[in-house]
Amino acid sequence: MAKLRFTFGTMGSGKSTQALQIHHNLRARGLTTLLMTQLDRREGRVSSRLGVSADAEIVEPSSDLFDLIRQRAKSLGHLNAVICDEVQFYQPAQCEQLARVVDELGVDVYTFGLLTTFQGVMFDGSARLMELADTRTEIQVEARCWCGARATHNARFVDGVQVISGATVVVGDTGGPTAGEVTYDLLCRRHWMEGAQAARGAQLELLDVDDARPGDHPDRSGPVEVDPDAVPTPLHATQNAGESP
Ligand SMILES: [Zn+2]
Repeated sequence: MAKLRFTFGTMGSGKSTQALQIHHNLRARGLTTLLMTQLDRREGRVSSRLGVSADAEIVEPSSDLFDLIRQRAKSLGHLNAVICDEVQFYQPAQCEQLARVVDELGVDVYTFGLLTTFQGVMFDGSARLMELADTRTEIQVEARCWCGARATHNARFVDGVQVISGATVVVGDTGGPTAGEVTYDLLCRRHWMEGAQAARGAQLELLDVDDARPGDHPDRSGPVEVDPDAVPTPLHATQNAGESP
């Protein structure tokens, strides 16, 4: 019976390597497989840090995966398995289409992706797969935080400082005047949260500075001398309003 499998891990945990390994193993057994990745990898290949790579079909946000896979199955004559990399970037609806591939076409689907963003929340595609998959497996990483604890969280840094706001996907260098060098690293939850807290604090501080500006200048907010006769009393104003309808 076909299954929808979701394997997740942090950056650098070897997801693409595992995707390629399964692709290779199934083909070595004479099975027909289809390898897919997301638009983000524009070259249409799945490659691992170990230097292995294979041609892959590119999934675009508008792709109907059920239709696409059904067509490929037809043209190939038979299809045993589909292997999907970078599924965190798939649309939730595409994850549902993958579930239909399993249920209606009887094709095994292996999906690989990151679980959470640098902001510490689940990617939409990964959340949907968590909900739909028959099996969910976390890749146990050897990666360590600088403190020595197991690294479980993806962190984004701009000029070496952890950030929690910004686009989920940074494609290349945006080149803007405020763009710094964007890097990623893995942290343990404690140190990810400490960095996130500091980033949040820095953001609030920026807000505070704006809000507090009038109070920072007591000269301007101090008592102002006025001529009492020139100021209408509320009573006076009410009477006037009543007298002149
Ligand atoms: Zn740590």
